[in-house]
Amino acid sequence: MSEIQKIAVLCSGGDSPGMNCAIRAVVRTGIGAGLEVYGIQKGYAGLLEGDIRQLQVSSVGNILQHGGTILQTSRCPEFMTEEGRKEAANLLKRKKIDALIVIGGDGSFNGAMKLFLEHQIPVIGIPGTIDNDIDGTDYTIGFDTAVQNAVDAVDKIRDTANSHARTFIVEVMGRKSPAIALKVGICTGAENVIMPTATIDYSKIAADIDRGIKRGKTSSILIAAEGEVEGLSHTIQKELKEKFNHQAHVCILGHIQRGGNPTPTDRLIASQMGHEAVRALLKGDTASATVFKSGKVMIAPLKDCLRKKNEFDISDVELLRTLSI
Ligand code: ADP
Repeated sequence: MSEIQKIAVLCSGGDSPGMNCAIRAVVRTGIGAGLEVYGIQKGYAGLLEGDIRQLQVSSVGNILQHGGTILQTSRCPEFMTEEGRKEAANLLKRKKIDALIVIGGDGSFNGAMKLFLEHQIPVIGIPGTIDNDIDGTDYTIGFDTAVQNAVDAVDKIRDTANSHARTFIVEVMGRKSPAIALKVGICTGAENVIMPTATIDYSKIAADIDRGIKRGKTSSILIAAEGEVEGLSHTIQKELKEKFNHQAHVCILGHIQRGGNPTPTDRLIASQMGHEAVRALLKGDTASATVFKSGKVMIAPLKDCLRKKNEFDISDVELLRTLSI
């Protein structure tokens, strides 16, 4: 019999579509197993403010189809300090909350890990970020929806690009992660993908555009990963104009990629992860994460998921190059 009776759940870092499905699964699995489940508003910041309420089965009704998170999310510099985490742990202990489920990215996971190591509060991480950039898991909640949103947008841009015989640079989210850019590039038949950490070879980009025009292409789309700072595509636009006399239009998709109804893939994986997170706590896990590996949701040590991942499969780049000639 598990000693856990009260658990809490929060979202932290950037929001991602599907977080609501994970919250719903945590609440309903927890209540189904006889636990009291609490929701913490606005991530670690809300925890420090004591913004905590008990959730019922009906509190999470009619939410799984909506993007964003009913618990809201935030970034909380205070939680980066030992003092801040001590305050958070004391608050959880005062409320007799036995364990915490954190839905967020690698930063949020690092905070959760420290809460466990410093104060022995059992924590389970559920990977939620559109960037798909957490080590130890093949998938993070929200990635599929973000890709879907970006693909829809690029398809629309392609219509106008074709009609006017134009080149477009479409900037997608993902910070240092190439995941969104690469998948969107393949799925939209982009002529080029500019990866976040790679040196940009402008002469190759210009040569690719010229080759396309010669063989009768009516448009070119370059997908640029945003990198650390939004607006990289304006630099690319300037270089192409000044060095190669190529006129390109810029479209920065921005936060539109993060919103909207989660895809069935996100709903399913988020529901499975929320469910498994509670089951792990009931089994006595103390510092774990739900991960997606070999097509299945499973439990892994949280310490394996603390690093940001920015590797990509080189065969995906080759596929894009082969198909975009
Ligand atoms: P994400 O979880 O999406 O990677 P952030 O990196 O912004 O987003 O982290 C979200 C929050 O998690 C931070 O505002 C902070 O409260 C907490 N956090 C992040 N990194 C750490 C860390 N190294 N130690 C403690 N808390 C952290």
